[in-house]
Amino acid sequence: MKSNKLLYEGKAKSVFATKNPDEVIMEFRDDMTAGDGARHETIGKKGYYNSIITSKIFEVLEENGVKTQFLELVKPGTLKTLKLDMIMIEVIIRNRATGSLIRTYPFEDGTILNPPIVQMDYKNDDFHDPMLNGTIAQALNLATQDELHIMKNLALKINEVLSKMFADIGIILVDFKVEFGKDSNGNIILGDEISPDSCRLWDSETLDMLDKELFRQGQDDKVIDAYEEIFNRLLTDEDKKKWNL
Ligand code: 5GP
Repeated sequence: MKSNKLLYEGKAKSVFATKNPDEVIMEFRDDMTAGDGARHETIGKKGYYNSIITSKIFEVLEENGVKTQFLELVKPGTLKTLKLDMIMIEVIIRNRATGSLIRTYPFEDGTILNPPIVQMDYKNDDFHDPMLNGTIAQALNLATQDELHIMKNLALKINEVLSKMFADIGIILVDFKVEFGKDSNGNIILGDEISPDSCRLWDSETLDMLDKELFRQGQDDKVIDAYEEIFNRLLTDEDKKKWNL
């Protein structure tokens, strides 16, 4: 069988063409990187967990009126999604101060941020994903003022839905990154993934980290157990049956 054409290869996912020009196949790999790709390891089963966690989260968002790229979990590791023209902006929502925020500004680690902070970074490893403001984003032709406004409001809505969803399973959604793209009609739609690779997730009781921060801090041996923990808390028996897990 002729394999599908590779359209894009990112640090943890690959995107392939399908016969339908409006749809693509997204493969979640086991690659894990940190420091703009400076450190690279393979973490077994990461693609399995992240593809399923993303599918579940995107379904929950759709149920709550947020349009996403997700069409179908073809099999663990492989999603069928809408083809989007991605906007090279990472929209970050922070409910607690940690990570790069406390390295850049004088916040105490763990401080609750209410209202949450909305940050936009330019997705560009060569420039180390620098923080944007509206006028820089527009001058770089990354997005119009209207599009920036839409992305900010969508990210805040996603935060509301997901903060509640995670709180219900004993997890604090500390912060996360989302990416948007445009469909063939120019609508702005949530794309990429939402997984422990792109969120900071702390256990509500112990405040233990259950996300990629473990890898960033060199605790590689703990990564897959943390991802499995998120998977086990998030997926219902019904989900497992539906997806033959
Ligand atoms: P920070 O800016 O503190 O490093 O990250 C804030 C949040 O956004 C974290 O949840 C982090 O996982 C996510 N994030 C920021 N930049 C990236 C990125 O380039 N890739 C991924 N996967 N997540 C990111």
